[in-house]
Amino acid sequence: MRLIHNMSTIAEYPTPECPSNRVIKIAVIGGSGVGKTALVVRFLTKRFIGDYERNVGNLYSREVQVDGEQVAIQVQDTPGVHVNASGLNCTDQVTNSIQWADAIVIVYSVTDRRSFDLIGQLHQMVGRAYAERSTNPPVILLANKADLLHIRRVEAQQGPLLAAALGCSFYEVSASEDYSQVHGAFHRLCRELAKQQPPPLPTQSPANTA
Ligand code: GDP
Repeated sequence: MRLIHNMSTIAEYPTPECPSNRVIKIAVIGGSGVGKTALVVRFLTKRFIGDYERNVGNLYSREVQVDGEQVAIQVQDTPGVHVNASGLNCTDQVTNSIQWADAIVIVYSVTDRRSFDLIGQLHQMVGRAYAERSTNPPVILLANKADLLHIRRVEAQQGPLLAAALGCSFYEVSASEDYSQVHGAFHRLCRELAKQQPPPLPTQSPANTA
């Protein structure tokens, strides 16, 4: 996994180190402490890192195979949003990340009711950001920390109901305990996006262009 430190240093793909023609840009958004960083790190490295340096807002990249095609995935981790008296409170980085991305992962924690209550407003924010685009970005809703059922604060049926109302896919996952669920959710998102985007044109070799 390659860490690209911040939004201002996003690598322009394809590069010599990254031969993929297709680049998938994903922003991960949600409340604070719901496990956004843990999920991104889990997806890209297979590892769960319980305690890591708090360095929210990183952009990560990695090459993966999606249905046999080599793609470069860039994943933008974002600072947590919260609600205050005037509504949804988030940094410019969250807004910029949503606008930058082709696909969105919205995360809440099953142990944190407030993080679930944010989802509707976050989804509206995504809708506003993409109002001008011809297609809506694929969005998935992840309910994280499924291993902590003894302190569940969001009932199991509420996530799927909300996802159905918002028209997005839903997964209940545990970044700490189950890599395959996390991997499956991100891959589904990549597939949905690959279906929306036309396949890249084959690059011509110099011999063919002569
Ligand atoms: P973020 O603020 O949304 O990026 O949240 P973090 O990824 O920093 O996670 C917040 C805390 O929750 C950290 O202590 C993580 O180790 C922990 N955490 C993240 N995902 C899980 C999970 O699936 N299960 C459990 N038990 N803890 C988790």
